[in-house]
Amino acid sequence: MKIKLASSYGFCYGVKRAIDIAEKHKESVTYGPLIHNKDEIKRLKDNYDIGLAEGIDDVKPKDTVVIRTHGIPKNELEMLKEQKNKVIDATCPYVTKPQNIVQEMSSKGYSVVIFGDKNHPEIKGVFSYAEGTDAFIVLNKDELQSLPLRSKVAVVAQTTRKPEDFLTIVNALILDHKEVRVFNTICNATFENQDAAADLAKEADIMIVIGGKHSSNTKQLHSIASHGCKESYLIENESEIDASWFENKKLCGVSAGASTPDWIVQNVINKIQELTSI
Ligand code: SF4
Repeated sequence: MKIKLASSYGFCYGVKRAIDIAEKHKESVTYGPLIHNKDEIKRLKDNYDIGLAEGIDDVKPKDTVVIRTHGIPKNELEMLKEQKNKVIDATCPYVTKPQNIVQEMSSKGYSVVIFGDKNHPEIKGVFSYAEGTDAFIVLNKDELQSLPLRSKVAVVAQTTRKPEDFLTIVNALILDHKEVRVFNTICNATFENQDAAADLAKEADIMIVIGGKHSSNTKQLHSIASHGCKESYLIENESEIDASWFENKKLCGVSAGASTPDWIVQNVINKIQELTSI
């Protein structure tokens, strides 16, 4: 059986940057998991003694705190600064952008619509930058109808959302509001990995998508792979691979989410090779 990697996969710019920043701050703690990948977090712990604070209560007075790629709510950032912790911001610049837009547009009197998942850390952070109470998180256009939006509306999207879904929200807003300021805050890194996975899934008999099971980015990649290739599996590492998946298969496509390090991808490929060469 042949194994083929997607033409674009794995770590994006923001994650590479966050890991570089963390590695330069040994014995620090990250505020929330730095990225959605528990194996990489373990590597940082083992090799750099970088700990994990799940919330403000876990942060000790002298801790150097590295802010995760998805950012954190504004009030929590302020609390860390008030506690005089040394704060190292590894928030991805593509996440800082919607935070800044939400702050600016809400301060200018626009209602702000944030297209995304209200339970996702990135969106909790972005939402926290709204000034006043005129900001709303929506996941579909039907949710817009009940919102008390002003005639002036600004709209941003979670970085990992699909552009066509964002367009549906934007189109619905334009029909009902005099002024709609659209900020396309979806991240290109996500598209590149998604397009490559979609292309590979068309020719593959089986697709293996590697990434954190809680990573929205990886889940979407898996959903895209499943459209092109019915036998698509989402795994976190090589220990989850089942040899029976590869029976009678000719081509195995491999892709990985934006939080998946290359060393995990390589371990998975080695394991598949080992199982299929017997
Ligand atoms: S996927 Fe995009 S927004 Fe998210 S961390 Fe990577 S570069 Fe930043």
